[in-house]
Amino acid sequence: MLTESEKTQIREVLEEAKQRLARTGQHALSYSMNHERNIGRDSIDESMEEEIFSTEMRLHDREKYLLSKIDKQLARLDSGFIDTCESCGEVISFKRLLARPVTTLCIDCKEQDEREEAAVEQAGRGGALDASAGEEMGGAGATSDE
Ligand SMILES: [Zn+2]
Repeated sequence: MLTESEKTQIREVLEEAKQRLARTGQHALSYSMNHERNIGRDSIDESMEEEIFSTEMRLHDREKYLLSKIDKQLARLDSGFIDTCESCGEVISFKRLLARPVTTLCIDCKEQDEREEAAVEQAGRGGALDASAGEEMGGAGATSDE
């Protein structure tokens, strides 16, 4: 269980992250408004402009995703479950929460998660390699038959 002062510290970190995101969100908005104004100006390379615009929008999506994570975490904080691991129900340490305020997993579950992800990735790569090696051998055989 977190103490009141620990909770306050986590809340401050989360609120600060939220405000930072809100500010960058504002930036994306003002950019898209400038974008409207800039249409029709010859000096601007349109494809370049489009590229910047879509990057801004991607960033904006990421901001929205992060904001939703922060809101979820603030709700967990309010209900007193912020230091409870979503996966195993063990306590997430205050130090970990302070370092990664949007985490909902304890360090053990997080590591487990990453190991599994790495294992899946490894298996995927291995499979693809085997398949392409087989194809190559088949190709070589066909050539020598000619
Ligand atoms: Zn856990």
